[in-house]
Amino acid sequence: MPTTRAKFDYIIIGGGSAGCVLANRLSADSNNRVCLLETGPHDNTPLVSTPIGVIGLMDSKKYNWMFNSEPEPTQNDRIIYCPRGKVLGGSSAVNAMLYTRGTPSDYNHWASLGNKGWAYEDILPYFKSTQHQERGADDYHGSDGELNVAEGRSNHPLGETLLEACRQAGYSDNVDFNGAQQEGIGYYQVTQINGERCSAARAFLHPISERDNLTIITEAKVARILIEDKQAQGVEYLHQGELQILNAAKEVILSAGSFGSPQLLMLSGIGPKEELKQHQISVNHNLPGVGGNLQEHIDIITVNESKKANTVALRPVGMAKMVKDIWQYISQRKGFLTTSIVEAGGFIKSKPELNDPDMQLQFIPLVMEDHGRKKSTLLTYGYSLHNCLLRPKSRGRVSLHNNDFQQDPKIELNMLSHPDDLTAMVEAVKINLNIFSQQAFDDGRGKSIFPSKAKLTDEEIEGFVREKANHVYHPVGTCKMGEDKDAVVNDRLQVHGIKGLRVVDASIMPTLVGGNTNSPTIMIAAKAAEMILADNVI
Ligand SMILES: Cc1cc2nc3c(=O)[nH]c(=O)nc-3n(C[C@H](O)[C@H](O)[C@H](O)COP(=O)(O)OP(=O)(O)OC[C@H]3O[C@@H](n4cnc5c(N)ncnc54)[C@H](O)[C@@H]3O)c2cc1C
Repeated sequence: MPTTRAKFDYIIIGGGSAGCVLANRLSADSNNRVCLLETGPHDNTPLVSTPIGVIGLMDSKKYNWMFNSEPEPTQNDRIIYCPRGKVLGGSSAVNAMLYTRGTPSDYNHWASLGNKGWAYEDILPYFKSTQHQERGADDYHGSDGELNVAEGRSNHPLGETLLEACRQAGYSDNVDFNGAQQEGIGYYQVTQINGERCSAARAFLHPISERDNLTIITEAKVARILIEDKQAQGVEYLHQGELQILNAAKEVILSAGSFGSPQLLMLSGIGPKEELKQHQISVNHNLPGVGGNLQEHIDIITVNESKKANTVALRPVGMAKMVKDIWQYISQRKGFLTTSIVEAGGFIKSKPELNDPDMQLQFIPLVMEDHGRKKSTLLTYGYSLHNCLLRPKSRGRVSLHNNDFQQDPKIELNMLSHPDDLTAMVEAVKINLNIFSQQAFDDGRGKSIFPSKAKLTDEEIEGFVREKANHVYHPVGTCKMGEDKDAVVNDRLQVHGIKGLRVVDASIMPTLVGGNTNSPTIMIAAKAAEMILADNVI
């Protein structure tokens, strides 16, 4: 029998990008008793705070859920790795720290689907109010917010080679991907502060963790949301080996991410009724869209060998440099240990007639394979270029393996299932190979590693894409906002058909934005907090 513990006004499930912002904003009024439950541990480790730690976090059982997809039929039955943060800060504690937002048309599209208050002019204030832009405030940026946005402090010399090659291929420079226009190439700004990672926990939680009205419970896994008469009453969670219950006087807010949130809804009897019955879960509310509409940025990496010892590698020259890098980090918080791995890149159009860029380039000055988990590739000098499709048409889904809350969710990414996505990815490979063929890389260009040769037929490229395409860790859409039959939340992020329950995280995005998803999720949470407080004024 679970023990019933204290009652809170708001219970937030998941201390990730969204959960940390909510905890901050909802507890700002000392009259609100707020509880944040997070499965992972506290984030007080140099692995999280030191940017280069991103490599170690990629396969850390302690800080990463390390999900895997089902075998993917559209990708030669490959099982695709889906890392997510399991620690205070969530995925913002393990991500690559790039600060981008997408384009105005992404949000205007959300509004055009009937979501009131989500057009670009409505949401821009939340991007600004959550941001501390080190360059200073302007029409697009804020300087009074918590999330520190900084220039990279590493700047690997090969980043400049990539940018020069892009210029030679016809792309123009852009110093601000989040400003007046997104298109162009340059260096990414990063969510770092003084050369350390600025996760959502570092930005929004650490400074306020002493508030008396905020309780943060780590290593607490929520098993289900308690629903009575279509009203969320509280949560049941596992902590220190014991099942416990917390009651919510006002609302339960689900921020467990695009895989965790639909899984928890279904475990709580909210979801497609056939799916629930199949797993002997009693139906609290039949909501067919839960777990559907999964979208990811489909990505391909082309990799080239370098004949020169000018890239990051586990070789004698590289190792000697690493000692220098460690000292530079300790003494100045500068140098390669501050790298987000991706430093240079940008947003490009695959066809000039497009209104917005449809592809994102991310350059890595090392040989990248299997999400950086294959360390033997680091024995070779080389460089890698990600190219991801910003608005894919393929849709996947999240469902359940069974009714055990300790099981991972069942993930079917289904990338490349839409033929247009495959065509676009073939084009992406050609774009990358064209960039690598430019004069800027002449000095030191070795052989092509992925694909295995630089000149291929379209059919061969298609085969390469099916064999190698992956994603860039941006799952969204599985609890989508809207009013259609597949929508899970309304435009105030309240779960359709259930009172006192909202979903606030990346899963509510109806469609992917054309950029990385951390700051859009933070924006969503800041806007949601305002709506929650407004809706609970007595
Ligand atoms: C490797 C990687 C690299 C990325 N790189 C970038 C980048 O460079 N820039 C960028 O903008 N975005 C990047 N992203 C994406 C971005 O970080 C995410 O989109 C964003 O963090 C999602 O926020 P969220 O709040 O939806 O989920 P999360 O931040 O994942 O938070 C969900 C939280 O809920 C917790 N949780 C889940 N289930 C339960 C449960 N049952 N009980 C209690 N707690 C639970 C989780 O442990 C987690 O802490 C990256 C992501 C990854 C994984």
